[in-house]
Amino acid sequence: MLMVLFGICLLLTDGNARLGSKCPSELRRRTSVLATRSSPTTSDTGNKLPGHIKPIYYDIILKPYIYNGQPSTFTFDGYVKIKLRCMETSMNITLHVNNLMISRKTMQITESNNGTAPTIMDVVYDTKRQLMIIKLDDAVYKGFDYFFSVRYSAKLSNNLFGFYYSKYEYGNETRYMASTQLEPAFARSVFPCFDEPEYKAHFNMTVIRSTNVTALSNMPIELQMDVGDNLVSDFFESTPIMSPHLLAVVVGEKEGIEAVTPDNVTFSAWITRGSVDKAKFALIAGMAISNYFGRYFGFKYPLPKQDIIAVPDFDAQGMENWGLIICSEDMLINHSIASSEMQQHVAILISHELAHQWFGNLVTMNWWTDLWLSEGFAEFLGWIGTSYLFPEWKMFDQFVLDIVHSAFEMDGLTTSHPVNVPVSNVDQISDIFDDISYKKAASIIRMVNFFLGENIFRRGLQRYLKGHAFGTATHDDLWLALNEEANLEGKNINVKEIMDTWTLQMNYPVVKIKRQDTSGFVISQRRFLKDPCVRDSRKYSSDFKYRWEIPFTFTTKEELYFNQDHSDIIWVTKKIRNKLFRIKAVYAQKSNTTSCNWILGNIQQYGFYRVNYDTENWKCLLLQLETNHTVIPAVHRAQIIDDSWSLASADMLDLNIALISIHYIIREMEYIPYKVAQKQFDFVDNILYNTAIITAWQDYIVSQIKSSFNVLTKDNSGSSHVRNHCLRAAVVQLFRIIMPGFGKSTIKEKNIDRLLRSSIVSTACKYGLQECILTSKYLFKMWMKDPENYRIDPDLKSTIYCTAVKHGKMKEYKFAFNQYKSSKSESEKNLLLNAMACTKSQWLLGRYLSAALDNRHIRKSDTLKVFMHIASISANRNLVWEFITKNWDQIFKNYNGSPMLAKTISTVTNGMKTIRELDDVEDFLFSHPDLGNTETVFHQATEKIQFNIRWIHYHYETLEKYLKVLKFL
Ligand SMILES: [Zn+2]
Repeated sequence: MLMVLFGICLLLTDGNARLGSKCPSELRRRTSVLATRSSPTTSDTGNKLPGHIKPIYYDIILKPYIYNGQPSTFTFDGYVKIKLRCMETSMNITLHVNNLMISRKTMQITESNNGTAPTIMDVVYDTKRQLMIIKLDDAVYKGFDYFFSVRYSAKLSNNLFGFYYSKYEYGNETRYMASTQLEPAFARSVFPCFDEPEYKAHFNMTVIRSTNVTALSNMPIELQMDVGDNLVSDFFESTPIMSPHLLAVVVGEKEGIEAVTPDNVTFSAWITRGSVDKAKFALIAGMAISNYFGRYFGFKYPLPKQDIIAVPDFDAQGMENWGLIICSEDMLINHSIASSEMQQHVAILISHELAHQWFGNLVTMNWWTDLWLSEGFAEFLGWIGTSYLFPEWKMFDQFVLDIVHSAFEMDGLTTSHPVNVPVSNVDQISDIFDDISYKKAASIIRMVNFFLGENIFRRGLQRYLKGHAFGTATHDDLWLALNEEANLEGKNINVKEIMDTWTLQMNYPVVKIKRQDTSGFVISQRRFLKDPCVRDSRKYSSDFKYRWEIPFTFTTKEELYFNQDHSDIIWVTKKIRNKLFRIKAVYAQKSNTTSCNWILGNIQQYGFYRVNYDTENWKCLLLQLETNHTVIPAVHRAQIIDDSWSLASADMLDLNIALISIHYIIREMEYIPYKVAQKQFDFVDNILYNTAIITAWQDYIVSQIKSSFNVLTKDNSGSSHVRNHCLRAAVVQLFRIIMPGFGKSTIKEKNIDRLLRSSIVSTACKYGLQECILTSKYLFKMWMKDPENYRIDPDLKSTIYCTAVKHGKMKEYKFAFNQYKSSKSESEKNLLLNAMACTKSQWLLGRYLSAALDNRHIRKSDTLKVFMHIASISANRNLVWEFITKNWDQIFKNYNGSPMLAKTISTVTNGMKTIRELDDVEDFLFSHPDLGNTETVFHQATEKIQFNIRWIHYHYETLEKYLKVLKFL
């Protein structure tokens, strides 16, 4: 093995200072063209309410009509009465309204103490800004309170936003329910209101519903009243003061379970139909995590109840409405038969939504520009809560993989944006529910946790929550609270100065460590851009000239010091410009006492930065991986792979180093580094699609994972591996893994090992390992014979279904479709949607796309999932792109505003790699002036396609040579 490594090492160039080549000329032209279409930088808050009137409380009555079985006629009636406080004397009252039929004649303004109130002269609707401006004959006066009331009605559509209906099957019957999704700016389409987070108020909700259904809202029901005609009024208790986008109502049938926490909070989990078993995991995990958060924040959950309800049609995975978390149905699982991935996913989601009850609900961002204060914290704390409940899941190793590395991807683009981002209109707000607001924000919060230390960090959060409870805050309020706690501990630090460099400018740094001489290393920083050829449109500027305050940490081969804390940090500051500085010589001397010593930076990847080294150091790290990779912890093996591939793409490193970094994977038996390697396998596989060396690359991957596949599918004696191509033998071996209880194995695997096996089996089948394909086909066939009783290991279902459909015929596809239609399990439905996308038949895929859009058999909330599943296979990308562009008007009408639509565009365009595809996307972009909340993602797509084109142009020969050295060509 070492000989192979040294053979490859001969391919390495000397030194790795800028390796950059010429950028293809066609792309240079395009970068400047693209810059002209970028939206201007804006701190424009012109769409915000004028602020002269504030709401104190709302009385709201909602009466949905969803009972006649004819959804085209579904509507709701509404009444709202708002107590207003006048902050500045004014001749108008301005509220948000969208798509409501307001009854002008019922509109009233009164003075709260029966004093004189002005008369309404005119009502003007600004539909673009979604405002209703009520013009008055006399002023409303500063310091006075008024009541505004009005009746209205609206259509109840199934657009998944505002107040909308869902459809579901119950036995042979089609049934309907109504529920809300008001974030970010859809409260205005349910009741006239001050629809911005800073306008917090109490909400007194009343729902008039049929006696056949029940209603839920943020608070418990205070009073129920029979109002005749088989109708009941539910009067809910007044909410604490809160933002309008956190209000929620669900009207429909439900089944559920409940329990009371030690803090006397009634906790319930509900589903609309099916087995309440599915609600247990959410209930038990939710109660434990909620209780833990109460202690963590030093602030008891302030509401008397917490409901979690799954609704059939839901655009996101979960919504944190205060006291009434709504999630999609696949988020309620039967824990005992769900895959390991799904268990983790659901635990994180529930923990995320519960964290929001404090971060986002109790303290809300003052304006959407600080959305990350809500989403970044919920993301980070979601992992903290899950980690608390399931410590054996090694959540924070996975955090590096799923959160830090994902955030690196998007934030390496010039079309990224700062964490703290100016937004004004609704589309711009919807646009920023992305990896920067969630994953980058969570990553930098973890970095703050590290450099302040756990105690200061936690007490700082407690101070922030107490100081701003039931109010709003900005990022500066957070920095101040953390700083005050740090100062109390005698720590001299300026949190704001550090964190402004991470939140007010986009992208992130790469830290370069270079062995200077025998006495030390020198460190420098520079901005990392995934593609050095793309020109920054300068939509966002940087006050810090793209330099950061970096909490740098490192260890060496001798030290192997991986358990570091804040006292080990060396600050690489933004003020050090173009100047290298020396770190303590003692480390350097240690590092040079024996041959092939290495240094490794960014311990546990606590810092949001990549690390580059001189070539000698890279060679030593690679040698370590080849000789004994376990010396370096799994999370750092993942880091080495991810950094080297990204640096090579950015022309900061020889691609051969990146290629060698995944060569040792043949012996890797841990999930985190394996998963990062799999990402690179898939990236290159897509890039090489339709080229002469694709088969060689796939053969190489199979050779890399075959032994792990064999080990993970060994029989329970531990000695006999699946080594031959005999179908029968392979089936028997895999059977023992796939069907617990078959054979004698009783070993309970850890979640993370099950994830590894699932990933290896998925790669094996995808890249053509015959044992894997044949076994999958066989198991699927067995399932087709006895769909009711035959059980397939939940961790391997996804691969087995997809492989069987991919290598099967019409009957496998049809079976999957019928199972999708009949399955009662949402997670099973998702697996089947994915499986159908695996068929190689372009004709079937065309039909599948049409079925996804017409929604007769495929639900509206599944449509975009189908597009993404199909487009994730290189051969199908163009088919999906053509379908989406042809049907854009309908798709845009149905899904504009949904973060899922942006994700779909990203998935469909991600792998594009030809000039023709770039032309197509640019033409589409320029011919559609209004792309709603997909505008940014289209810009990002053009940047990524240019990157792919350049990558293949520049690296093809290197890959070819590499495969030749390894004798795959
Ligand atoms: Zn969230």
